Amino acid sequence: MNQFSYVRPASQKAAIDAIFRDNTARFIAGGTNLLDLMKNGVTAPEKLVDINRLPLKDIRFSNNILHLGATTINSEVAAHPLVKTHFPLLSQALLAGASQQLRNMATTGGNMMQRTRCSYFYDITMPCNKRSPGTGCGAIGGINRMHAIFGASDQCIAVHPSDMCIALAALDATVIVAGPKGGRRIPFADFHRLPGNTPEKDNNLGKGELITGVEIPANPFTRHVYYLKVRDRASYAFALVSVAAALDISGSTIRQARLALGGVAHKPWRLYEAEKMLTGKAPTEENFRIAATVATRSAATFQHNAFKVPMAQNSIITALSKAAAI
Ligand SMILES: Cc1cc2nc3c(=O)[nH]c(=O)nc-3n(C[C@H](O)[C@H](O)[C@H](O)COP(=O)(O)OP(=O)(O)OC[C@H]3O[C@@H](n4cnc5c(N)ncnc54)[C@H](O)[C@@H]3O)c2cc1C
Repeated sequence: MNQFSYVRPASQKAAIDAIFRDNTARFIAGGTNLLDLMKNGVTAPEKLVDINRLPLKDIRFSNNILHLGATTINSEVAAHPLVKTHFPLLSQALLAGASQQLRNMATTGGNMMQRTRCSYFYDITMPCNKRSPGTGCGAIGGINRMHAIFGASDQCIAVHPSDMCIALAALDATVIVAGPKGGRRIPFADFHRLPGNTPEKDNNLGKGELITGVEIPANPFTRHVYYLKVRDRASYAFALVSVAAALDISGSTIRQARLALGGVAHKPWRLYEAEKMLTGKAPTEENFRIAATVATRSAATFQHNAFKVPMAQNSIITALSKAAAI
């Protein structure tokens, strides 16, 4: 591993300044992704700015908004009574991620910023436009079983790996950011990016910007929710396909639906058309099948991942059925 220095600022401003002044500096929170990347030689920051002393550990519900500080721990958030009561989809998604040990270290901000698990990105002997722009994409003509079926480009077909973020996308969260020019709020749908011609950029965070928290507005999705994760092993594996499904059902009518897929695109993949199709309909398996077809109309597959289309369709039907409890 390369030499690096380590600082643990006591103020947000000092943390932001330390990153802004130094191109090779990186924030570190739980370290569960960043340290792996450093050990594998994917990244070599010369300075680590530890943000764990900043007062960003709040979990509070006020004015009908849940606020999660950036350094709240995944396992704490998943188990918090406010989250379990008002945002059970988030709790389910968090518990589907990684392992208990990892969830005890991983933070809300770090989870959002974790990098793809594409094996070509991790293997520094292989070309990867995300790791080293301009070198090509090993996955496009390689083993692409885990890769994208939506929104890929001819530069990159990697997928976003987080479970938590799929629930946050479905729940219309907002990312709260502080930076050298002040604060701003980023709707979750605009936080992560598609690869296009700049696959090295996973998200729209600017230079020196620090995620300070995430907000989720209160919603009616407290009962009919289900996070389904399909993976190669029952734990400690990333999603081949995951579905965050939330329904607001009154009598025999769906008043509102929220659906997002994980493991299929460079960002959490919200299924707006399928949500619209379900609104006002009865929560029946037939309608869920139509929604699944609508949801996958724009899928484009590669040599080894065509199975993800029927897998996504079946997962959507199952997640919606479990959410509706039919
Ligand atoms: C074996 C293994 C299995 C896993 N399985 C899963 C899984 O199934 N599902 C899943 O979702 N995840 C999984 N993970 C990933 C895990 O969830 C992430 O590693 C974790 O969430 C990252 O959080 P962290 O706080 O440790 O981030 P760090 O490693 O500390 O940081 C990650 C990145 O975020 C940046 N960063 C951190 N905090 C901030 C902030 N506040 N503002 C701006 N930038 C910030 C850092 O600079 C770094 O670039 C797995 C990880 C491992 C090692």
